Amino acid sequence: MKLPRVGEVPDFIDKCADYQRQVLFFLLCSFILWGSMYFFLSQKGDLYMVEVNGLEVGLLANEEELEEILCTLESEAAEYYGRPARVAEEVVAKKVFLPLREGEPEKVFAQLHNMLSYKVAAKMVIVNGKEVLPLNSEEDVDLLHEMVASAFIPKEENVLLKNVETAEKVTTRDGFYYPEEICDPETLASVLLRGTDRKETYLVSRGDSLWKIARDYSLSVDGLKEANPQLNGEKLQIGDEINLIVPEPMVNVFTVERLIVKEKIPFETRYCYDDSLWKLQSKIVEEGKPGVKEIEYQITRENGKEISREIVTQKVIAEPEPQLVAKGTSDIPSKGTGNFLWPVQGGGRITSNYGWRGSGFHAGVDIGAGKNTPVLAADSGVVVYEGWDGGYGNTIVIFHGYYYTRYGHNSQNKVSSGQAVSRGQVIASMGSTGRATGCHLHFEVRTGGIYGTTINPLSFFSP
Ligand SMILES: [Zn+2]
Repeated sequence: MKLPRVGEVPDFIDKCADYQRQVLFFLLCSFILWGSMYFFLSQKGDLYMVEVNGLEVGLLANEEELEEILCTLESEAAEYYGRPARVAEEVVAKKVFLPLREGEPEKVFAQLHNMLSYKVAAKMVIVNGKEVLPLNSEEDVDLLHEMVASAFIPKEENVLLKNVETAEKVTTRDGFYYPEEICDPETLASVLLRGTDRKETYLVSRGDSLWKIARDYSLSVDGLKEANPQLNGEKLQIGDEINLIVPEPMVNVFTVERLIVKEKIPFETRYCYDDSLWKLQSKIVEEGKPGVKEIEYQITRENGKEISREIVTQKVIAEPEPQLVAKGTSDIPSKGTGNFLWPVQGGGRITSNYGWRGSGFHAGVDIGAGKNTPVLAADSGVVVYEGWDGGYGNTIVIFHGYYYTRYGHNSQNKVSSGQAVSRGQVIASMGSTGRATGCHLHFEVRTGGIYGTTINPLSFFSP
């Protein structure tokens, strides 16, 4: 074998190196080609930037990771609030083209945990299609209905609430709301009934009037009255608390009540006749007794104000018992007999005559006797006056059908008005009541009325 000379590349080596170079070149090209293909392929859709309301938070490998994180956070919140919760902010994962990096799920979780707030499941109360405020639960919705109704529940024992309805349609819709915007049923009831849960009151002091308060607070007097149904008319008492918020109810509550009351049934009066009584007289033989009926009313009210009242049932519990009255039939002599009995027991003595005297006209005759001497009815008749009669003092007037006899200055009257008396009956005791000098009976005879024409009493007695 011939050794190559120095500086001469043997043929086979030359051929071999050529081949190696070609292989190396080929491998290099492949590496670059596959490498860049791998690089580009590995970038496609593999990383996601998480954004909260447009703010970048961190990278995740895929959208499912975000779903998982949100799901975990929402269940944590649900546990905290005790009901379904949803993330309030808008959280999105956007596909990004960045040099290859690892996803950072722990960092994203921690960030979101700090940043996010939650809305929780609640019931939005809707009045006539308009959202008012959300309540926590179905139980709260029931409570709200109860509170709205109870605002107008009658306090009286004999009133039964049959129905409560609002004129407006009150519905609810399920939704998610910030916990702090969820209302309690009491506040919402106040909002529905008064248009607000705001309270502003004014304490009445001396010299206040509804008109003055209305002017000072730019309200109308009618508005003030509406806001204060507890006020009795326009009168204010010092210390009264006046509500300054005029209600603008969002709901009008119609209540139907049943009111059961007992009412009296008046008794009728029946008459019988009794010849032992004068025609002028009557007396109760049997006392009447009113009956009792139970009436059931149906009362409809709008926001507590009565708008209608109907009788539903009426039931008689006790029938009335009629009153029986005896009417006198005996004729009083149309002309008095004029046959009078001397009206003072034991006679007495005449102390002043009928007619003109120094102090004026004396309409009767004065008969003096000892104190409490019995005074007698001069004839049968009916007592038409018994009582105090000015200067006459204790007085009795008896009607005898035509004549009237008067007995004045008595210490005590012993018969009463309407009573029949017989001739000679003791009707009084002699005294000196009224304008009298000494103990005596002032005895008068008149016709045409108890203050009719006077006649000298002595003309009826023969000396
Ligand atoms: Zn007299």
